Amino acid sequence: MSRPVRRRPRTATYAPASGVVHVTEQVEEFDAVIVGAGFAGMYMLHTLREHGFTARVFEVAGDVGGTWYWNRYPGARCDVESLEYSYSFSPELEQEWEWTERYAAQPEILRYAQHVADRFDLRRDIQFDTRVQSADFDDTVARWTIVTDDGTTTRSQFLVMAVGCLSSTNLPEFPGRDSFAGPSYHTGKWPHEGVDFTGRRVAVIGTGSSAVQSIPIIAQQAAHLTVFQRTPAYTVPAHNRPLTDAEISEVKADYQGLRAANRLMSGGFGARQERGEISALEVDDETRVAEYARRWDIGGFTFLGGFNDLLLHPDSNETAARFVRERIAETVHDPDTAALLTPTHVIGCKRLCIDTGYYETFNRPNVTLVDVSQQPIEQITPTGVRVGGVDHEVDAIVFATGFDAMTGSLLKINARGPHTTLQDAWEAGPRTYLGLAVHGLPNMFTISGPGSPSVLTNMITSIEQHVEWIRDCMIAMRDRGHQRIEATEAAQEGWVAYVNMVADMTLFPTCNSWYLGANVPGKSRVFMPLPGFPPYAEQCAAVAANGYEGFQLS
Ligand code: NAP
Repeated sequence: MSRPVRRRPRTATYAPASGVVHVTEQVEEFDAVIVGAGFAGMYMLHTLREHGFTARVFEVAGDVGGTWYWNRYPGARCDVESLEYSYSFSPELEQEWEWTERYAAQPEILRYAQHVADRFDLRRDIQFDTRVQSADFDDTVARWTIVTDDGTTTRSQFLVMAVGCLSSTNLPEFPGRDSFAGPSYHTGKWPHEGVDFTGRRVAVIGTGSSAVQSIPIIAQQAAHLTVFQRTPAYTVPAHNRPLTDAEISEVKADYQGLRAANRLMSGGFGARQERGEISALEVDDETRVAEYARRWDIGGFTFLGGFNDLLLHPDSNETAARFVRERIAETVHDPDTAALLTPTHVIGCKRLCIDTGYYETFNRPNVTLVDVSQQPIEQITPTGVRVGGVDHEVDAIVFATGFDAMTGSLLKINARGPHTTLQDAWEAGPRTYLGLAVHGLPNMFTISGPGSPSVLTNMITSIEQHVEWIRDCMIAMRDRGHQRIEATEAAQEGWVAYVNMVADMTLFPTCNSWYLGANVPGKSRVFMPLPGFPPYAEQCAAVAANGYEGFQLS
């Protein structure tokens, strides 16, 4: 394993002037500074180096892995199958890595990221434990000046934001939150040494994917678990299991074929399950229910793949929603608890959860469900959580309250272009061209930025497509002697209108999801991801083929 870049002491040189000794810094300069060493930053670094560029990665965490470095809560697991949630850029890597389970757990995915870092000797160009604070673009020389929290200044031609879509935790300002006397945890910043809840009374606040995965495991450990639910989740069984040698061999025999097929899928994954090409309303009830039952038994996201209009037509959607509601009623013994767990919104409008024993957990005698949809959490007290005047006493609180998604981590960096800051440019919500660039911030790229398919896809498919597009753009600029690239305002306006138009054709904007920023009080409501990977990838390719149409190059 190579040694990571250490925080280095500033090198000082003495420049006598006017009889006074000044200390100046030697500023290191790179072709690109990459922010983040998750799957996006790692591949960006690797491919830039392979193509003769110099790059430095800054990463807040102590190692690679991004989301898989931080999200160590019990049960954390990917909801895209492991054979598909992996890099495709290296056939050797594909062949040598062995996934053990259908859905890989967090420790295994982190080991994979670490293996990639070792295999491609990435750590020598990554500076860990370092936060990028600001980045200023000097238009006279077309270079970014990047300041990190170790007080160091670095310069680069390009700034690549690989900060992740779900990396800035959302911890609501519950009254009295900090008065709680026991330990509290956020699922997205879980202690590395793990937490033992044995014999303790635990509160979990939230019922999104992180809660759905952790609740069944915490319930097995805790003396009592109280779940505070604002919106019930739709969740489909994972049917996780060990992978067999035969299925691994079958995939590895034509891995690139599977990757190519996945790139033709709307979400960039799932090509091994066939997609229904007709409306849910075109078949009779019996056929439809049989199809849902078949897919429920397979498990995972394929549940929503049986018909082609489940996220387009409310009546079609309702048929799938009804199927899940019936499973909840069948599974949960107490009718009041079952009713509370039953969602009424459009299924898939908030990200579908994939679970192992979630609804069953509410049959346990040591689990209580508290509805906070009508009466919000009133107060966190030193001894627990108060709702509607009732104190629920607990020894520990788990905030499974999600993330300031897609924009949170980008806006924490003070990025300044010649005439605007990112914060000002996005005051009314994120605006990008292709989800890759922002007018007013030249030579800056955002990997899986708002306005690109990103979180609606297998993230690694989207990451690879963005990384390769950015790399090819940098190569084209180098070949043509360009120093500066900026999305035009007109291209950006056109793209924002297009993303809104596509989103409005779907049912996605109909509920209060983090896709819309609705989970963070005060955040602008803009539907951030763009549904549909294949047409998007074609548009990006066409932009490049047409000489980076919509960008100004000089
Ligand atoms: P999330 O989906 O945003 O869920 C947060 C939960 O906290 C929601 O139930 C939300 O209720 C609740 N909440 C937020 N503020 C609250 C408040 N003030 N009072 C009461 N409840 C509040 O976050 P997440 O579960 O961490 O998941 C985020 C995303 O990360 C997922 O959608 C997925 O994309 C990804 N993820 C993936 C996996 C996986 O691969 N299996 C696992 C975990 C996460 P409302 O719904 O009412 O807002």
